[in-house]
Amino acid sequence: MKKILSALLACTLIGAMVFAFAGCSNSLDEAEKGESKTNSAANSAAKSTDKSTADEAKPSKGELHMATNAFFPPYEYYEEDKIVGIDAEIAKAICDKLGYDLVIDDMEFDSIITAVQSGKADFGMAGMTVTDERKEAIDFTDTYANAIQVIIVKEGSDKVKSADDLAKATVGVQLGTTGDIYVSDIKGCNVDQYSKGNDAVLALTQGKVDAVVIDNEPAKAFVAANEGLTILEEPFENEDYAICVAKNSDLTGQINGALKELKADGTIQSIIDKYIK
Ligand code: GLN
Repeated sequence: MKKILSALLACTLIGAMVFAFAGCSNSLDEAEKGESKTNSAANSAAKSTDKSTADEAKPSKGELHMATNAFFPPYEYYEEDKIVGIDAEIAKAICDKLGYDLVIDDMEFDSIITAVQSGKADFGMAGMTVTDERKEAIDFTDTYANAIQVIIVKEGSDKVKSADDLAKATVGVQLGTTGDIYVSDIKGCNVDQYSKGNDAVLALTQGKVDAVVIDNEPAKAFVAANEGLTILEEPFENEDYAICVAKNSDLTGQINGALKELKADGTIQSIIDKYIK
């Protein structure tokens, strides 16, 4: 009897090890999906928190990879090695609702649409503004937030006092963003493109550029984090944020369904209120 029991135990143990191994290699494959950095700490934290009992009972349908650029507070940014923010939390709530595990892949903003188009990522969420040009490459879900492009200058700046002054200034932007697109259209404006918004802001503090054009909420966060900067009263452009998904994907409808419920039950607003006081 004892022998049978220990044989059974050994079998179970071997079985469990094989299972664990299969799980490992699977997530390794997923991690190797792209050249982007996968935020595993954020993911494991995201997986382990906020699971309702109903979600616990449902087996996961697998992973959904979100492409983002995690230097865009309060929408996505690092808290130690974990990506947090409005987009990270809304994405988590959507994945919970749809029964997927969220994996966040951090990359250049400029690479997000290509990652989604090629299937390296399942969706892109990065305070991304809906534009007609982007719609030619990918689909957008319903919108979940509004934004305004604003101008950051050094306090007491003589060179840039209004949007009109951008025409004779050197302006820092984040490469491939709507700020970049608007400023690049201004005749006479000398545009300096940076891969991260905070690099453009750093250039401003160092006097390398006269102004930075960027979305209002990250602008507020950057101004709060750097002394001697201010946001011009005059806002620049109104925009809507949405999630981008590969063209004609079933995921668009699924995400819209989840978004609708999360808007109706107040989840989206409470996530936004948590980060924007
Ligand atoms: N809202 C801007 C855009 O979509 C900036 C987004 C970002 O830098 N993450 O282009």
